Amino acid sequence: ATPTALMAATGRGAQIGVLVKGPQSLEGLQHLDAVVLDKTGTLTSGHMSVARVTAVPDGLGEDAVLRLAGAVEQGSEHPLGRAVAAHARRELPGEDLPEVHEFRALTGRGVSGRVENRRVEVLAPGDDLSGPLAEALAAAEKAAHTPVLVCVDGVEQALIEVGDVVRPGSYRAVERLRRLGVRPVLATGDREAPAQAVADALGVTDVYARRSPEDKADLVRQLREQGYRVAVVGDGVNDAAALAGADLGIAMGSGTDVAIGAADVTLSRGSIEALADAVQLARHTLRTIR
Ligand code: ADP
Ligand code: MG
Repeated sequence: ATPTALMAATGRGAQIGVLVKGPQSLEGLQHLDAVVLDKTGTLTSGHMSVARVTAVPDGLGEDAVLRLAGAVEQGSEHPLGRAVAAHARRELPGEDLPEVHEFRALTGRGVSGRVENRRVEVLAPGDDLSGPLAEALAAAEKAAHTPVLVCVDGVEQALIEVGDVVRPGSYRAVERLRRLGVRPVLATGDREAPAQAVADALGVTDVYARRSPEDKADLVRQLREQGYRVAVVGDGVNDAAALAGADLGIAMGSGTDVAIGAADVTLSRGSIEALADAVQLARHTLRTIR
């Protein structure tokens, strides 16, 4: 493609919400035949909300646990963290959430920190819960909610269920991409039930749940070894390695700075439908000027 044509296509891309870092990204878009899609914040809205809190009966109690969990999650930029902090503020009006010290984001796993001299963790639960927390986990699976476990000083205190909605546009986007010959693959750090619910809603059959950030990057590597030209679409810090390892990294404009920094392309319209537009644009532009 001539530089002038690439310039024109870059401008056209910006108009439709596809911001490319360089014209070579357009050539990447033209040849894609697989796309690895993150779930939370990419296919779903990322405006998550807390659906239910189950505290253990002999523990600190729901309000105290929410206060501590909300305090730690104030430091998080993950949609789950924002939902927990917002819920705590709403449920505990007139109180300021306490400060968090020694905050750590364990990418793809959760957060930890010190609040009022207690060690607070909000994490992906394991499969070893018992009693009311195990029941709450089963209920979360059934509702396809994302569960997070709150531990205080190493003691399990509550399970928080968080819900999300599929972004309008995701369904059409997946369908259009498939028709353009781009194979859709869903990969998420979340559990099977919420992953499968979104995949079913969108008609995606390749689903990888409970994938760490490194697993996501491995999956991309494997697809590339099979000969696919792979794009990754993500929004989180947990997607950065996969974005960097893809033929084309694509960030949601609503995503974290880390994701946008690792990507070649940013979608500013809040839907991956812009990606289907972008593939069409690239193919059209580069074909007509050959
Ligand atoms: P996704 O691929 O869906 O964007 P991540 O890889 O970021 O998910 O996270 C994987 C899992 O780690 C989440 O489903 C959750 O259980 C846990 N997790 C990540 N960040 C947080 C957080 N801020 N608070 C609580 N749990 C978290
Ligand atoms: Mg995400």
